[in-house]
Amino acid sequence: MAVAGGTTGRIPLIAGNWKMNLDHLQSIAFVQKLAWTLKDARHDFAKVEVAVFPPFTDLRSVQTLVNADDLPIAFGGQDLSEFDSGAYTGEISGQFLKALDTKYVIIGHSERRQYHGESDEQIAAKLAAAHRNGIVPIVCVGETAADLETHGPSAVPVSQLRVALGGAAKGQEVVVAYEPVWAIGSGQPATSEQAQQVCAALRAVVAEVLDDEAAAATRILYGGSVKAANIAGFMREPDVDGALVGGASLLVDEFSSIVRYQQHLGT
Ligand code: PEP
Repeated sequence: MAVAGGTTGRIPLIAGNWKMNLDHLQSIAFVQKLAWTLKDARHDFAKVEVAVFPPFTDLRSVQTLVNADDLPIAFGGQDLSEFDSGAYTGEISGQFLKALDTKYVIIGHSERRQYHGESDEQIAAKLAAAHRNGIVPIVCVGETAADLETHGPSAVPVSQLRVALGGAAKGQEVVVAYEPVWAIGSGQPATSEQAQQVCAALRAVVAEVLDDEAAAATRILYGGSVKAANIAGFMREPDVDGALVGGASLLVDEFSSIVRYQQHLGT
């Protein structure tokens, strides 16, 4: 079981991808309320890590709040450029994210792949950029409904991850997020058995491309219509180390309840 206090040594991570929601003022109110809610519930942040991924324009506000109030909430960007500087209008450098204390950056989200045509090779270059700048990449992989029908659940995410990890620097942390595209925002999550099957296959890819030590240490998240009502099923699986949450991460009480998934494990 990939639960806090389990035997894997991997600290579960619950990450909220806000996508293009909440402006910088709303982000301050949200993070304050999230921190209060979790503190009131006596959440042990050392046992389950919490991270939020606001739009770029919110990051400075979130950083200021987190640093000023010493909040145990990590934050990150939703994307970064494969380049560190130069004539790339509209792009955000890993150097800039690092300067804002961002711990993580999401890379290769299916919405970036779909709407911005990001290729596996580009995602590998972005992963390299994250590592070059000391930021932990959360690499998203996942099959579409058509992929699922043609190739089954594991083939596409496995091949996406194999290419993406080509950009990894030796000894640096990577987080992987298995996000079946058909489950994102659809209200139809994968079953926990299916998530386990693919996450185990992804862990084998980490072992193959990096090494066994990296595979044992790497956190693999499930994402796609995660809610408080279904998180426990995923977290009971041995190769699922947390969740990347979209829609439900915009609701403080629901997101806090997902973070506190241990309260649902007995149900
Ligand atoms: C996501 O976009 O990463 C995601 C998992 O979204 P949702 O939780 O809304 O399905």
